[in-house]
Amino acid sequence: MKATPGTVYLVGAGPGDPGLMTVRAMELLASADVIVHDRLIPPGILNLARSDALIINVGKEGGGPSTPQERIEEILVEHGSAGRSVLRLKGGDPFVFGRGGEEALTLRAAGIHFEVIPGVTAGVAAPATAGIPVTQRGMASAVALVTGHEDPSKGETSLDYPALAQFPGTLVLYMGVRRLGAIADSLIAAGRPADQPAALIERGTLPDQRTVVTTLEELAATAEREGIKAPAITLVGDVAALQSSLAWQEQRPLNGIRIAVTRARAQAGSLSRKLSSLGALTVEVPAIRTEPVDADKPLDPRGFDLLCVTSTNSARLLFGRLAAAGLDARALSGLTVAAIGPGTARELAARGITADIVPARSISDALLDVLKKRSFKRALLVQAESGRDTLASGLSSLGVEVETTVLYRTIAEPLDSTRITATREADVITFTSASTVRFLLEAVGGAAGISREDGSRPKLISIGPNTSNELRVNGLEPDLEATDHDIDGLVAAVVLNAGR
Ligand code: SAH
Repeated sequence: MKATPGTVYLVGAGPGDPGLMTVRAMELLASADVIVHDRLIPPGILNLARSDALIINVGKEGGGPSTPQERIEEILVEHGSAGRSVLRLKGGDPFVFGRGGEEALTLRAAGIHFEVIPGVTAGVAAPATAGIPVTQRGMASAVALVTGHEDPSKGETSLDYPALAQFPGTLVLYMGVRRLGAIADSLIAAGRPADQPAALIERGTLPDQRTVVTTLEELAATAEREGIKAPAITLVGDVAALQSSLAWQEQRPLNGIRIAVTRARAQAGSLSRKLSSLGALTVEVPAIRTEPVDADKPLDPRGFDLLCVTSTNSARLLFGRLAAAGLDARALSGLTVAAIGPGTARELAARGITADIVPARSISDALLDVLKKRSFKRALLVQAESGRDTLASGLSSLGVEVETTVLYRTIAEPLDSTRITATREADVITFTSASTVRFLLEAVGGAAGISREDGSRPKLISIGPNTSNELRVNGLEPDLEATDHDIDGLVAAVVLNAGR
């Protein structure tokens, strides 16, 4: 359901992992006219907003002041009453220490229709991700969500520490990492056991989440020693002790491994997502970009009896070139269509063409082996500008007349020094094509550019023989080459490398 004009949606964006946003929040994000957001929202999600949406950041940026609450409410009223659909996006749940209730009251008073979309709250999600259930049979039958940050306008604290100390269950504290000493002292003074297990969970559900288990008495000293910073949840209760048995994040195959992904920006996302879902900390280093060649030039495949599509990019661009000739997929009806691998076959399938030939290994030699078994007269190859000619020369030597059409070229994408440093500091660099090798090395100033000061370098993992070959040409030996030469094969190789 799209956002309705004249409605203000008070929406929880969850604790940080974009995967923990609700389906409803995603729909509204993609359709709202105006987005008014806090600082603590999942990284990158604003990219999913409409390109013409008005985006207003009312959160603190880099320690700067945040927009005063009255002003935020004015903004909501202003856009709501102008008939726009407004997404008020907050971290976690909008009604849990999110001032969503105050905003709702103001909207009601102004006669503006609003809806509330709950979110996954950090106080439950961060412990869960750390392996701490906030309730547990026989251990904690209640849980209290408590603020560690008192509204300064209230003067003295409004929290009843004696009551909290006696509370029969888990205490979950939001905010207030710097006040932990005073909070713990008050709880202990009011009778909470000093040696009760406690946990600090920093940046819960984000790739760099950190958990430290300690005791109530040691909370402040531990936070100080470990340098725990906001956003963090503090949990006090016996359930904290379960963390040592239930921690699960650490058990993911790529937990905490830093991986540089060198694909073109447009394609890097899918690989990064697969790696991060296995626990890796990925950094995208898009050393290359592809650029269509002669995009408007007509291409007429009729008269050929074989079409070879040698990359996913070619599969995507092919149809634009057919359209330029006034043709569509029907022009391929008389041809045998060969795809270099399953990824390319999928791109073709998405456009209504089922490839007749897909070799098990995504390399030219494997495709050629299959093609050799059949006879063709005229072959059309659609490929990248500096694509290798293994296939063309192989087919020619079989007596096939070959025509090659270049659909795109790969060009360098400038890399800033932060990304270059992150690449050098990574545990692993993945290479998905010879061009990613070539252009990354160009950007870092040659093979020596990926070495660290102590002479060590990241592990290099290559998708297949061409890519490995390009590494060797540059004096680098790949640490591992994928057995299946596609993205899933590369991911499997990264996991294999991490396990040894
Ligand atoms: N409405 C939010 C809470 C806002 S108050 C919710 O329901 O989660 C902000 C506090 O939430 C932070 O100071 C911190 O204590 C907690 N918090 C938010 N995101 C967090 C995260 N990813 N990990 C740990 N704590 C987080």
